[in-house]
Amino acid sequence: MQEFDAIIVGAGPAGLAAARKLAEAKMNVICLEKKQEIGVPKRCAEGLGGGWFERLGIKPDKRWAVREIEGAALYAPSGKKLELRFGKTAGYVLERRVFEKELAKQAVNAGAKIRVKHPVTSAVRENGKVKIEAGVRGDEEEYSAPLVLACDGVETQTARMLGLNTVNKLNDIDSGYQYEMAGIDYEGDDLINLFFGEDGTTEGTAKSYLDKFVESHPGLKQGSIVEVNAGAVPVGGFLDDMTADNLLVAGDAAHHVNPIHGGGIGLAMEGARIASDIAIGAHNAGDYSHKFLQKYNPIWYEKRGNQLKSILKRRHLFESLSDENLETLVNSLTGDDVLKIAEGELIESAKIVGKKLIKYPGLTKIMLKYLK
Ligand SMILES: Cc1cc2nc3c(=O)[nH]c(=O)nc-3n(C[C@H](O)[C@H](O)[C@H](O)COP(=O)(O)OP(=O)(O)OC[C@H]3O[C@@H](n4cnc5c(N)ncnc54)[C@H](O)[C@@H]3O)c2cc1C
Repeated sequence: MQEFDAIIVGAGPAGLAAARKLAEAKMNVICLEKKQEIGVPKRCAEGLGGGWFERLGIKPDKRWAVREIEGAALYAPSGKKLELRFGKTAGYVLERRVFEKELAKQAVNAGAKIRVKHPVTSAVRENGKVKIEAGVRGDEEEYSAPLVLACDGVETQTARMLGLNTVNKLNDIDSGYQYEMAGIDYEGDDLINLFFGEDGTTEGTAKSYLDKFVESHPGLKQGSIVEVNAGAVPVGGFLDDMTADNLLVAGDAAHHVNPIHGGGIGLAMEGARIASDIAIGAHNAGDYSHKFLQKYNPIWYEKRGNQLKSILKRRHLFESLSDENLETLVNSLTGDDVLKIAEGELIESAKIVGKKLIKYPGLTKIMLKYLK
């Protein structure tokens, strides 16, 4: 039995951020990862908004922040486009395999241990601690710690093994299917191109919609697929309580994801850092009770969770728009208008809607309902 101050399950952005923070606080910590290589497969479109670099104190490095993003182009079903340009670097496309290895290196340099090819298969409480079994068949090992951080992503089992229900409602899961392609010809490649429409909300698999999309875009059709990835994104059912005795949950496992675009790298790291602060407090106080660890919830909600709840409302707004509504919006609003509405400033948003959509009372009603 190997004893630690804390065991982290999962070496994604959340687990690695937590491992570094706990090790920097001189805690004896191990991070167990089921994959045989950190960062691979990536199951991610690898976009990260510029604000996260400032918030997390990370400097973009050319080895993993491989391409600058200047803004976004939003396309209505007819193909009409609305460009949002931020006038500065709005984010980066990451090479996540390199990024996560770098996070792993930083955690290990701070004193954390990482074990790949160590899937956690069992977690049980025993005498105030959690006993964990991990490893591939025939090569399992036992670990014990008074504290477990479940950072095991959308398919998390660890929290459930310790009695916390993390199951997503089906409506709160997005199916992601993605191709990395070579030989494509696409305009505006410094922008993220986002295509909206009702088509993808009817029956069909994510793959079938993607294939149809590629087939109908001449610039993509002639390209070759060099990588395929698929995954689920928990886009809305945040856990009210992300704790139990001896347990903290962060990242996708706690549904820390932006409900509109599904981005979760920055949020996973932020959530894990907040959870780590509580873990350090618990370690210093020798108190791993649910009551102590629960302090994590209000801090998360104040820093980020409440904002995500309001973004969730805007997702419901998008989902209730018809193709006709989307055309009206692209024809009536400017990129600046969309940015202001997306920022969620209520009076300003209501003014824009009242002025620019006055001829469309049905759409105005929908917009105002969700902006409230
Ligand atoms: C198709 C797709 C595209 C996406 N695009 C973007 C994007 O462009 N930008 C963005 O910010 N986000 C994106 N996301 C979301 C983003 O990938 C996640 O929000 C982010 O990875 C969450 O980090 P995490 O550390 O919580 O979880 P993960 O990155 O999923 O890491 C969890 C880790 O836990 C490990 N694990 C699971 N079970 C066990 C176990 N029993 N034992 C040991 N280890 C275990 C997993 O192998 C994994 O390595 C996308 C997601 C998908 C599916």
